[in-house]
Formats: sequence, C-alpha cells, structure tokens
Amino acid sequence: MAKIGTRLHRFLFETERQIPQATGELSTLLSQLAFAGKRISRILSSAGLTDDLGASGAVNVQGEQQQKLDALANEIFLEAFAYGQLVPTVVTEEMDLPAHLPENVASGKYIVFLDPLDGSSNLDVNANVGSIFSVRRLSGRGAVTTEADLLSRISLEQVVAGYFLYGPSTTLVYTEGRTVHGFTLDPVIGEFLLSHAEIRIPDHGPYYGANEGTVLDWERGPRLFLEWVRQNDPATGRPYSTRYSGALVSDFHRIILKGGIYLYPSTGKSPKGKIRLMYEAAPLALVAEAAGGAASDGRRRILEIRPTANHERTPIYLGSKGDVERLEACMTSVTPR
Ligand code: ZN
Repeated sequence: MAKIGTRLHRFLFETERQIPQATGELSTLLSQLAFAGKRISRILSSAGLTDDLGASGAVNVQGEQQQKLDALANEIFLEAFAYGQLVPTVVTEEMDLPAHLPENVASGKYIVFLDPLDGSSNLDVNANVGSIFSVRRLSGRGAVTTEADLLSRISLEQVVAGYFLYGPSTTLVYTEGRTVHGFTLDPVIGEFLLSHAEIRIPDHGPYYGANEGTVLDWERGPRLFLEWVRQNDPATGRPYSTRYSGALVSDFHRIILKGGIYLYPSTGKSPKGKIRLMYEAAPLALVAEAAGGAASDGRRRILEIRPTANHERTPIYLGSKGDVERLEACMTSVTPR
C-alpha cells in the first residue's frame, strides 16, 4: 500500500507501472482533472472577497439559476482538457450540448462527464461544494455529432470516476473501479498528497442524508425506510443521525468515510428525482461500489442503467451496502405509490 503523504503524480506513476497494458493516459487525465481542482479551490478560497459570487443571470439546462462560479468552474475544466489529445468531448451540467475540444478531435478516445460545481447554492453561505467527474471510453475516433451518436459510442464502463470536495481542505477522491483513494491538497506546495488509502465504506449507518422537506411526496419504499432508521434500537445503531448539506459530494464523502446512506427518491413532482445519472449518480456509484458499498435507483444498480440522454435524472440510494439493501427490500415490500 502506498505511503500516506505520497504525491498524486508519484502515486499514479507507481500504480500504472503495475499494469502491463498501461499507456500513461490515466495519469494524464487525472493530472488534468487535478489541475482544474486546484484552480477552483484557489478561487473558492477567496470567493467572498471578489465579485465571483452570485447568480450569473443565466439558467442552465436543468432550469436552475446558474451561479457565476458554475460558469467559471465549467470553463476551468474545459481548459484543463483542451490539450493532450485524449478528450475530444466533454458533457457538463452547465451546457445543454456537449463541448468539443478541437485540438483532440483527431485522436481523442475518452469522454468526460462533469458536474463542475456541485451544490453551488451553498456558495452564498460559505458551505461545502464539490466537483464530480466520470471518464468513459469512446469507440471510434473523431467528433461526436449528436447526442444519439454520443450515447451509442460510449462505453458503459467508466475508466475513472471521482470528485473534489472543497471544504476546510480540498480533497480529491477517485477510483479506477477497483480501489478508492483520497488525496488532500497541500495549498502551499500546490500538490495533492495521499491522505486516505484504500477507502472502505462501513457496512451500515450511523448517518442518513435526505431532503426530508419533501417526504410527503416520496413513494412508499423510502418512506418505510425512513421510519426504520428513526426507530430506537441500540443493538443496530438506531436511530441513525441526519446529515444533509445540500451538496451531494459533501454528504457522500461523510457517508463513504463514516457509513450510512444518501437518499434522493423519486417524488410525485419529480418522478425521476433530482440527481443526474451521467455526472452525479454514475461516478459516485462507481466510487461507492469500489469501496465495498452500493448504489441503487431502488430497483437496480445505478451502474447497470443504460443512459438514454446526457442530462437524464435518476432516483438514487447510495452508501453502505447493508443500508442500500434494506432500502431495496422496503421498495419491493410495497406496491408503488
Ligand atoms: Zn451536482
């Protein structure tokens, strides 16, 4: 196991050396991502002092108020991938259509799905935000023309996925699908250093995170589950404690380190929930499973959902295996609403 404090660059070099068919591309992709994370972290650290806070006046593809920093973070990621011949196309929460990076169109073979600034409504109150990324292989070279073309050419498997959490310190957590590692940014030397080697998520509890304000509009399965976590049963660690910040990355990070479940169910108003499949649910599902946890839409694994649109949504139950399995059992024990 790599030593705590190992620099990301060295860690990637040594990990790739163990894989005979490694090409160094994974290292390049992660270095590009890490550079974007560092730039965003630096901007956020003084966001209250600059005029970067507040709404940009635009509305994104999801119909949400775009913050100025959403747009800035989006640009920073696009710039990070603009060279290197690896990524011809980026799909982000902030852009209706995929962004094409002309330098890479001829030879690029990866597509990156991004939530550039997750939880950006937390910015005005100086609370945690994050960035989420998912890298997939693209079959055939050259520009992706339409959404249908893109979805038919992407691999169902993610090559690498993870997130940045901008909290008291900046953390990068990623997986290549087998193990999960966490790095913390040392802002003075400007490097990510290994701080959490081979993260394993506890099998259950003690936390759950959900927007309970909408509970009366949830379907019955997650409502039953909610009743279960609130029951008093010290032997199984219940009741669980609620933690919900409004930033998916922040809530998820607590859960993979400490255990429990994140819920964003389907509601009467939003039958597919709020969380986006390609750049929120799928990458965090890959991280959760690689850490020994689980991710479900209540009826099937998130990782088995075949995407039909770049910006599609899905209900999600994410975290400790024991808790996700119990949630699924609650779903099947009742007839749908
Ligand atoms: Zn988000």
